[in-house]
Amino acid sequence: MKKVVKFGGSSLASAQQFKKVAEIIRSDEGRRYVVPSAPGKRFRTDTKVTDMLYACYETAENDRDFSEKFSEIRDRFEDIVRGLNISLDLSPYFAEISRKFTEKAGRDYAASRGEYLNGVILAAYLGFTFVDPAEIIRFHEDGTLNADLTDELVRKRLENVEQAVVPGFFGAMEDGSIRTFSRGGSDITGSIIARGIKASLYENWTDVSGVMVADPRIIRNPEVIDTITYKELRELSYMGATVLHEDAIFPVRQAGIPINIRNTNAPDDPGTMIVARTCRIPKFTITGIAGKKNFVAINIEKDMMNSEIGFGRRVLSAFEKYGISFEHIPSGIDTMTVIIHQPDFEEKEQKVLTEITHLVNPDSLELEPDLALIAVVGRGMKEARGTAGRIFSALAHAKVNVKMIDQGSSEINIIIGVKNADFETAIRSIYDIFVTAQL
Ligand code: ASP
Repeated sequence: MKKVVKFGGSSLASAQQFKKVAEIIRSDEGRRYVVPSAPGKRFRTDTKVTDMLYACYETAENDRDFSEKFSEIRDRFEDIVRGLNISLDLSPYFAEISRKFTEKAGRDYAASRGEYLNGVILAAYLGFTFVDPAEIIRFHEDGTLNADLTDELVRKRLENVEQAVVPGFFGAMEDGSIRTFSRGGSDITGSIIARGIKASLYENWTDVSGVMVADPRIIRNPEVIDTITYKELRELSYMGATVLHEDAIFPVRQAGIPINIRNTNAPDDPGTMIVARTCRIPKFTITGIAGKKNFVAINIEKDMMNSEIGFGRRVLSAFEKYGISFEHIPSGIDTMTVIIHQPDFEEKEQKVLTEITHLVNPDSLELEPDLALIAVVGRGMKEARGTAGRIFSALAHAKVNVKMIDQGSSEINIIIGVKNADFETAIRSIYDIFVTAQL
């Protein structure tokens, strides 16, 4: 069994956390390739090392004295080394990083040093080989991943390495300069390494025991999802559930490798399995609930709209012209509604509305702002009768007025539009009827 194990920033924020991580790795021989993040927050008001690096580099770039910020970063790492009781001298590393900051080696270089140093420390502590991702993760000129080359380099480099630590978050351009993924990108590195070495499992260790059925800021102690499909996860992530970096799914999904989300602080919890397909029936009919606030509905009415061919296309072209993407378009016989993310619309609203008027000359054109969209997601909904009925009776009981309904053709989600002010109440009532009532 070859497993890739990625540990997030809070899992590696202090020597104490490093010790937990080492114990987890040593408890399973399959855990051979380790991808660390930079040290994250040790407590709620703490600062992530990546943010400290960005700030420090900005000071250097503006030719100001960055020594104080630099030594705060250095202290974070020295603290870890001291707490682990290993003989690792970080001085040469910091001397080089400081020189490169003065030379203005770039923001990406600066940010990447958090994962780099954490990798050096973790490799020394575990006795694993350190592999610099600059050697094996390559980007195209336009900044996108060169997946084919990367796959080959990863495979070749790790083929004969029994156990390795490969820092997350960055790789290199063709000319060797450092390039990072977007924030949270160590998840992507883990996924790429898993595909490259054809791992049997990609374990992603974090500070929660898996993907939750609903947002813990709305539902206290929500249930954890035991198994979720990639498709369901995509629906939930799109609607705001933050689990993994969005781009981390593709490489492993393509290679048919499941992901297991695990908790470094509760290693016995089984976590959530993210899989391509499963015959496991979800515990609660629904798999999860997620949602986002701040949408606006643009309601367009015109008599005989149904027979006016090209009506919908013309309406949508007004949004296209101003670079606005739409979320949903529920429609009736003589009505059509376009739902848009409100902040993207506000600035251009008058232009778009004028354009619609010119293009289709509607009988009425109304705006309904401050809407929230809620996605109830579950592969189990396809088979279960009455799911929609249960959702709407729960909402009616909670006195939530439903503004829009849209059931995706995949039948794994139902989208409901409510007023922003009803958002939390709506989520709680749906959670209660499907989850709390079933416990
Ligand atoms: N350290 C980077 C960040 O804070 C990448 C990561 O943690 O995945 O975004």
